[in-house]
Amino acid sequence: MFKKFVDDTCFKFHINLEQIEDKNCAFVIGHDHIQLGQFEDEELKVISFVHEIGHILSKWSFKRATNFNTLMIELDAWHEGLKFAAEECGLIFSDSAIKWAYGQACSYAGHDERERMSWKPERWLKTTVSAE
Ligand SMILES: [Zn+2]
Repeated sequence: MFKKFVDDTCFKFHINLEQIEDKNCAFVIGHDHIQLGQFEDEELKVISFVHEIGHILSKWSFKRATNFNTLMIELDAWHEGLKFAAEECGLIFSDSAIKWAYGQACSYAGHDERERMSWKPERWLKTTVSAE
């Protein structure tokens, strides 16, 4: 079932899927190349693939609106991927896989403070207030 889902999704999005040796990781390069690592758990492998699809589906306007906040972009990519799998393909992951997925996303908490000199938390507050 997972193989057909992955094959069909790659066909739909014209994705070149590359199996890599790295453990428990996946990457998207541009909008048409996904690298998928080695996973002991097949469900975690497929949910990771779905996350990379979520990056492709995630809207540029959302990224801009968040000032390219890594944590929010990662959460959105998981959400978009899970929505795609459920709505388009009827694929529902187990609670434990979803919990693992969002744990992966939350590992980016604090990332922007460490990595970006121009990080401006006050902009988020302004955005939140002005959106009301
Ligand atoms: Zn990601």
